[in-house]
Amino acid sequence: MNLRPLRKLISGPVEIYTVPALDDNYCYLIRRAGTKTCAVVDPSTAAPIRKALAELGLTLDLILNTHHHHDHIGGNEDLLSENPKLPVFCSSYDKPRIPQATRGFGDGESFEYQNLAGQVLSIPGHTLGQIAFHFPEARALFVGDTLFSMGCGRLFEGSAQTMWESFAKIKSLPPETRIFFGHEYTDKNGLFALTVEPNNLRIRERMDQTKKDLATYSSARAPSLFEELEVNPFLRAPDALAFAHRRSLRDKF
Ligand code: ZN
Ligand code: FE
Repeated sequence: MNLRPLRKLISGPVEIYTVPALDDNYCYLIRRAGTKTCAVVDPSTAAPIRKALAELGLTLDLILNTHHHHDHIGGNEDLLSENPKLPVFCSSYDKPRIPQATRGFGDGESFEYQNLAGQVLSIPGHTLGQIAFHFPEARALFVGDTLFSMGCGRLFEGSAQTMWESFAKIKSLPPETRIFFGHEYTDKNGLFALTVEPNNLRIRERMDQTKKDLATYSSARAPSLFEELEVNPFLRAPDALAFAHRRSLRDKF
């Protein structure tokens, strides 16, 4: 198996690492600096997570699942086999369909992790149980498959209107909030974004920067909400109808 390197994306009192997995998934590790344990967001599969933990000298003490799709929970079972008491958090909606889940959260519910406040935002659209994990102190938002760099998830369970309302929740967060996506699709999303806004130079900048980042680090940066609002054709749609139209064009792109 091809295990690509991890990348430290956020330093400071809270550290966040990207662990690329499968073909294009991004898993993340988060911890308070100095602690010997960390949480993993969306472990696609256990091997790259284990390798990253070994490199960092850390052990896991929490699994966070943004939604029930296999490429986001596929590593749960394996990681639990080494550490059967590991809590697994997801949405209340997904709890029945994530076999390893220990606790389900409703919209707006919060928890504490390593003295960090974690808030659960229900952001249905890609799936009905999709949530984001928001850590305001770290200015970090893990969105699963709701948003990607210049893109958004397919509407598997929710309607365009549902997804649009989820976008509104994300847009209401502080603009400096960094967004951690579930997949790397910048290249194709960028090409589509250019069909919508051919003169938006920021789109090309994002594509170029990401190409460099992927060559150097095997993973992209986590843009701020402010930066994403400058390039993402779905967030930039004027209304739900225009969003639905762009999403259907992107499905065929
Ligand atoms: Zn998914
Ligand atoms: Fe996914």
